Amino acid sequence: MKSAEGKFIVVSNAEPYKHEEGKDDEPVCKEVEGGLTTAMNPQMRDSGGVWIAYGRGEKDFSVTDPDGKVKVPDYPEIPEEDKYTLKRLNFPDSQYRNFYRGYANRILWPIFHSFPTKADLRKEYTYWNEGYLPSNKKYAKAIIHAYQPGDTVWVHDYHLALVPKLVRNELPEAEIGLFWHIPWPPWESFGKLPHREEILKGLAAADLIGLHLENYADNLLECAERVGADLDRGAKRFQLDGEDTQVGAYPLGVDYRFFDGTDTEGKEADIRAKYNCDNLILGVDRQDYTKGIPERIRAFEKFIEDNPGLREEVTLIQRTPPSRTGIEEYQVEKSKINDQVSEFNGKFGTHDWTPIQLFWKGVPQRELIAEYRAADIGLVTPGLDGMNLVAKEFVAANEEPKVLILSEFAGSSRQLEEALLVNPYDPDQVAEAIKEGLRMPREEKERRWRRLRKKVRTEDLPSWAESFLKDLENARQLHSMTRFSFPESEPERGLS
Ligand code: UDP
Repeated sequence: MKSAEGKFIVVSNAEPYKHEEGKDDEPVCKEVEGGLTTAMNPQMRDSGGVWIAYGRGEKDFSVTDPDGKVKVPDYPEIPEEDKYTLKRLNFPDSQYRNFYRGYANRILWPIFHSFPTKADLRKEYTYWNEGYLPSNKKYAKAIIHAYQPGDTVWVHDYHLALVPKLVRNELPEAEIGLFWHIPWPPWESFGKLPHREEILKGLAAADLIGLHLENYADNLLECAERVGADLDRGAKRFQLDGEDTQVGAYPLGVDYRFFDGTDTEGKEADIRAKYNCDNLILGVDRQDYTKGIPERIRAFEKFIEDNPGLREEVTLIQRTPPSRTGIEEYQVEKSKINDQVSEFNGKFGTHDWTPIQLFWKGVPQRELIAEYRAADIGLVTPGLDGMNLVAKEFVAANEEPKVLILSEFAGSSRQLEEALLVNPYDPDQVAEAIKEGLRMPREEKERRWRRLRKKVRTEDLPSWAESFLKDLENARQLHSMTRFSFPESEPERGLS
């Protein structure tokens, strides 16, 4: 896909591999799970690419050269020619706190998920000046250092909105794409950001901005217009601060072959035996207030209350890896969920049956596949989710027809229309969907499942990357022909 003369420079906050302390204090390399690594590894390897990311593993810097570089995947069985360079960035603790925990996750995350009241806007300037801006500059500097003419720069996510502009200031001819992995909200939420204009100016210097859905792309265009951009709505382009960018929808897919083809050695049967229950319902979500976990539990409770005949026949397994544990709000939510579950289990549980099995622990994806296969129903009901990969993974992992109950507010519901779509804030409707799922005739289940599987298989991770990168190349070509045709708008250098 990449032309012979250039390499990929992928930039993200999370690194694809980390080094942890292994036996005998030796550092061991571990893949950081998340789709991007799988999608990009072959291309990184073939182009001799560089991946720039924050090094968060406890032994990360014990294996790098003085410039923070290490070859990955750092596994003994991988030949040198199949590795690529990971450049790890290190930040002073307080800067990283203000950047990651502060601006990215206490400002941008709630604002972009339309929970503006959860945004810590009183500290917006501190988080910006002492975290977000200097960290974005550091990423940009590393890109500029790694860049050679012909390279493709692919920036990921809301942590790095200023990077395209900061790089463009120094490298006017670079091909720069950015993929935004969370929703883009309406102006009524986005507009509350004090640095709204700077965020958009930062992004506008990318040749292409990808989002999961058309309506996120439309929201972005509207927000750009509100801060003074010129818009070509039909072509989905906007011009701001002397920069001209293309916006498009690219729904992220999953590595279908991995989820479909991984051999779980029959572990799903052990899981079913352990719960000794006819019907297993599974919820899998990082702990986050956007995931609708208390509402989901409430809906399951409603189902149990309303269907006494089904008690002891249905168990909900809720797997919830902790995340952002340093943020107080997340700790408060965790203890509320614990109380909610204990109270319900205390009230309805019996000697042989615990209605809700709650796990505050993540498992590697290979183990998760066994849980996906053990379950009869996937219950995926976030309050708002940019895409939600769990829903797609549940489909990909199960050849055997199952039932997927999916929130209308998960981006993936736009593709997975054959799921039972629900409003996660309506416990009666979700409880009814659980009942419908348990009773669904085999034929209907099969029909829905066939269609869901086809979508997840064809709109998978490699095809997502391919279509984004193809459009990025076209957008760059267009820009190299037209970029300087707006003589009246001298670019500002506000972010440098
Ligand atoms: N995941 C995992 N182990 C777990 C729970 C989740 O590896 O115990 C992975 C899951 O396979 C999925 C990702 O975490 O790839 C969650 O992605 P999603 O888009 O659903 O939500 P996000 O956490 O990105 O908001």
